[in-house]
Amino acid sequence: MERREPSPAVRAARLILRATKYDGTAHWIQPFRVVSDDGTLLVTEYTARTPIFTSRGEFRSPYNSRVYFWRDRWYNVFRLSKPGCGLALWYCNITTPPTIDGCYIRYIDLDLDVSVRPDGTISVLDEEEFEENRRKYGYPPEVVERAREAVEDVVALARSNGFPFCLG
Ligand SMILES: [Mg+2]
Repeated sequence: MERREPSPAVRAARLILRATKYDGTAHWIQPFRVVSDDGTLLVTEYTARTPIFTSRGEFRSPYNSRVYFWRDRWYNVFRLSKPGCGLALWYCNITTPPTIDGCYIRYIDLDLDVSVRPDGTISVLDEEEFEENRRKYGYPPEVVERAREAVEDVVALARSNGFPFCLG
């Protein structure tokens, strides 16, 4: 039987997201299972109620999540659904492009988020937090520009129902 060499992420099977803020402090630590990895797009899953560490304390998300991490994009997309129910929403985090090494997914969270509801409602969240942290941490102009572009890109993708913003 022909066997292809699995990518590093698939070989790990389980990955831990370690998101930090711009100064390196831990922000969000969440466990995932690997679904697929083509070298650019890593797809993972999280089971509802599994403990997540956040800078505001432990959190257990009520949503089963399918999460899309592109190594070359400044955002990721969490597809959230309540167990036994359909799609609840997509939640997109604006971040530096992720690096995936060993059992870790790492990126810097850049505060801004975009929520996309199945009825097409799109909201950009945490603009104030972004402004506050831009000053506090001294985000370089390039980072600010990339973050704003990422918001525009993900909003445009959602508006056009592009992958992964597909119903069903
Ligand atoms: Mg945020």
